[in-house]
Amino acid sequence: ASGDGGNGKAEKIFVSVRLRPLSEKEMASNDPCDWECINDTTVIFRSSLPERSMSPTAYTFDRVFQSDHTTKQVYQAGAKDVALSVVSGVNSAIFAYGQTSSGKTYTMTGITEYAAQDIYEYIHKHDERAYVLKFSAVEIYNEAVKDLLSTDSSPLRLLDDPEKGTVIEKLSEEILTDWNHLKALISVCEAHRKIGETSLNETSSRSHQILRLTIESCAREFLGKDNSSTLVASVNFVDLAGSERASQALSSGTRLEGYHINRSLLTLGSVIRKLSKGRNGYIPYRDSKLTRILQPSLGGNARTAIICTISPARSHIEQSRHTLQFASCAK
Ligand code: ADP
Ligand code: MG
Repeated sequence: ASGDGGNGKAEKIFVSVRLRPLSEKEMASNDPCDWECINDTTVIFRSSLPERSMSPTAYTFDRVFQSDHTTKQVYQAGAKDVALSVVSGVNSAIFAYGQTSSGKTYTMTGITEYAAQDIYEYIHKHDERAYVLKFSAVEIYNEAVKDLLSTDSSPLRLLDDPEKGTVIEKLSEEILTDWNHLKALISVCEAHRKIGETSLNETSSRSHQILRLTIESCAREFLGKDNSSTLVASVNFVDLAGSERASQALSSGTRLEGYHINRSLLTLGSVIRKLSKGRNGYIPYRDSKLTRILQPSLGGNARTAIICTISPARSHIEQSRHTLQFASCAK
């Protein structure tokens, strides 16, 4: 499905699903693999294979990847075009969605590196333009926005700028020198994200991480002369909070006592569902921090890819079904 912001050119959201391999623990406890990719676009629930004489439950997406697909393959087929649109001045966002331990961080870490490498390669090949790359990173936890490049963990405010839209006040932004510089900054973010983690891994399962690369470019002949020919766009790599709480909230239809419902994750779900149906209506971007921050990279002519990660183990069946339903709504 696609919407078109009125210009007839909007891209649909590219939705793929990745099954990780069974973990050692799952194998040791005889937790079998319940899902199988039967081709490049279809995943089925194994227990519904014909020999078990049940009607097959098949889910079809833009791409599906199984345990023997590498992150590079996931990147190339599921995220590369979207990520590289940034060099032509088009904003983009790549999301990893799924329950805790399904492989979001594993997948998004690899994709971020491959994308950054390709962006650098592109820039080196196009020296008719001058490029400036900037990096920033935030974590959203309980609707509080934190700067992952800073040791100061006080929450940052979102401000409405008449020209730029939503901006994050006092957010650090580093001008990148090269690829190694970027890798070092990503390590800083990882370290800052870990500091906040409690023993239960609560933070990483409840928080969203956005790593953002912003690229400004200008044809060398106009350098310093004509700002109007400068292109600016950002690509956002988004490692979402675990979807388990969102699915509990959705299936009960009410706010569960004792659970902190993840407002950003639920709002992202509604925004994506509305965008995928065509955007002739109100889109609730302003209802959460995540969607406010990402609004310029969602909808309009921005490009979006979502990689939904699932554990193939039988013990995760409910969560995997929820994730596939989410993925189905997004396409
Ligand atoms: P999440 O971020 O969704 O909580 P992780 O990315 O941390 O999950 O993955 C959970 C565990 O599974 C990690 O130990 C990770 O290395 C491993 N893992 C995830 N996806 C894969 C994969 N495709 N291949 C191999 N190991 C994986
Ligand atoms: Mg993670």
